[in-house]
Amino acid sequence: MAVTFSIVAPIYNEMDNLAELTRRVGEVMSTLRETWELVLVDDGSTDGSTERIHELAKQDTHIRPVIFARNFGHQVAITAGWDYARGDAVIILDADLQDPPEIIPDLIAKWRQGYEVVYAVRTEREGEGWFKRTTAALFYRVIRRITDVKIPVDTGDFRLMDRKVVDVLKNMRERHRFPRGMSSWVGFRQVGIPYKRAPRHAGVTKYPFSKMLKLALNAITGFSYFPLQLATYFGFGSAGLAIIAIPVVIIMRLVGQGAFLGQATTLLAVLFLGGVQLISLGMLGEYLGRIYDEVKGRPLYIVREAPTK
Ligand code: UDP
Ligand code: MG
Repeated sequence: MAVTFSIVAPIYNEMDNLAELTRRVGEVMSTLRETWELVLVDDGSTDGSTERIHELAKQDTHIRPVIFARNFGHQVAITAGWDYARGDAVIILDADLQDPPEIIPDLIAKWRQGYEVVYAVRTEREGEGWFKRTTAALFYRVIRRITDVKIPVDTGDFRLMDRKVVDVLKNMRERHRFPRGMSSWVGFRQVGIPYKRAPRHAGVTKYPFSKMLKLALNAITGFSYFPLQLATYFGFGSAGLAIIAIPVVIIMRLVGQGAFLGQATTLLAVLFLGGVQLISLGMLGEYLGRIYDEVKGRPLYIVREAPTK
């Protein structure tokens, strides 16, 4: 079946948001008079979301459920959305209604003007604590500085992508994923539109600090070698220092200026260099582990139940 628009929502324990999500998406899409589908990717929910998705799908044939065998994470759920979406344009939005479906017509309007990626930029965030806001703001800016792709700041996964873009992304099967970075990396004609990020409709965030940290690491390692190069910079720094210090120490010794009382200094130097070395090893490990995961070549996700493509 030819579908013009695919809306994709990743779902992890969003029981109390599903009815409202499908209602609001349905309301917006019905005004457009185009064919559309709503791909609901259930990322291993355990709160009854899965059953709720099935109920809703029975009532509304636009809904196509993709049910994972377990929780694979938000980024992977988005990937499954790309895989199963059939539309000429694919729109990703959060299931908690923080990305208002009412913006979709604006995204589509830009797409009709010829843009292939239309991302929504958060100008305001409501209902989120200062910690989330500050770490998020910092995250986007650090990523932008140290990665090789210019990922627009304050944009989440809420965006519309043309079929051409989705087909390219579908072929990028890297395991540790940062979808927003990937969709910047591919190029194409891109444009941002501002929107006000709403508070969660119901439920609590599924992004504890540990998941945010993981995402940040994926973003950095996926798009930059900077952490690996840090060891080189530190190496040059401390070697340079030693080259300057060696003749100084020799000369002072020869002219009888001094026995150095260096125990504390030695200890500090050893601790510092030991620390830097261990951190560098850890960074190497991050990349190595990722290479190992790639080499294993396991599937990105496992579906228990999915529509025929
Ligand atoms: N999500 C998911 N798998 C996860 C965590 C989150 O599919 O392991 C979904 C979640 O249901 C929501 C979206 O990803 O639709 C964004 O998550 P959340 O709203 O918790 O993140 P926040 O907006 O607080 O950053
Ligand atoms: Mg949210």
